[in-house]
Amino acid sequence: RAKSAGGNRFELADPEADARAITRHGLTTALPAALERGEFFIEYQPLVHLGDGSVHGAEALVRWCHPQHGVLGPDRFIPLAEDTGLIVPLGRWVLQEAVRQARFWQARHTDGGPLRINVNLSPTQLHHPRLVADTVDVLERSGLEPGALCLEVTESALIGADEGLLKPLRQLAEMGVDIALDDFGTGYSNLANLRRLPVSVLKLDRSFTRGMQQHPVDPVDLKIVEGIVSLAHSLELAVTVEGVETGAQARQLRELGCDTAQGWYYARPGAPDRIHSLLLADAV
Ligand code: C2E
Ligand code: MG
Ligand code: MG
Ligand code: MG
Repeated sequence: RAKSAGGNRFELADPEADARAITRHGLTTALPAALERGEFFIEYQPLVHLGDGSVHGAEALVRWCHPQHGVLGPDRFIPLAEDTGLIVPLGRWVLQEAVRQARFWQARHTDGGPLRINVNLSPTQLHHPRLVADTVDVLERSGLEPGALCLEVTESALIGADEGLLKPLRQLAEMGVDIALDDFGTGYSNLANLRRLPVSVLKLDRSFTRGMQQHPVDPVDLKIVEGIVSLAHSLELAVTVEGVETGAQARQLRELGCDTAQGWYYARPGAPDRIHSLLLADAV
């Protein structure tokens, strides 16, 4: 029997591998009905300007409120949804819901500046022939301007991408949608390759931010981040850092020239109301 032990972890009586396989199978078969029953929900994590801590936007992060296992994080079910193709309708739901939420915030905070919404795209969604049409449709129906949407694609999903794969992203970018390279620095991509990708934002992976937590910070780590930031800026890409957990990290990353940040130091992912109150307060 799998028993929920709080958070996203399970305590399993059976040997772990067995139990995981059963859970994996069980979760996979439960996915389609879960979508129909509305068991998925979205938490939002603010993205802030490193300069003044003001809210720049939010990233939509999907969760599954499983009737037996409790709340499951995306790492538990996104890979399963990828394997079965359910990621396409699930991803479409996340996009629609997040865009609708962003439009709602905008309508209530007209002086709050342009609030942006970041939505993650999986590789299967990237290959789907209706990606552009679906995105246009969602934007038109919500009334959100394309420039307020940022689609996050992992670096590994774009490694070796040919023109066929890049074309829909290029079309979206031409409409004004931002494309961010997520988890940057983990995929061993050729830095020179960045030039041919239709991306406007680099999201530096948490592994870099983690280095900034050590005392003293390894000077080589500093040089690497400095180099990436300067390269990104010379290509006119904005740099967002993930996983900022302390004020010291935030200061360091600001000094290194990073533009925006996301992390527990500012706020954990949470209910949409949280973003609403942060916008009212004007800073995290
Ligand atoms: P990601 O896009 O890189 O999202 C950032 C992850 O880092 C989130 O984990 C977030 O909760 C976590 N995080 C944020 N700040 C901190 C921090 O200061 N410290 C630490 N230790 N962690 C922090 P989460 O929500 O578990 O999401 C994991 C991954 O699942 C995401 O990584 C993304 O790749 C994927 N994902 C989430 N929602 C969706 C979705 O709607 N569609 C798709 N295709 N993938 C999604
Ligand atoms: Mg992301
Ligand atoms: Mg990321
Ligand atoms: Mg990451």
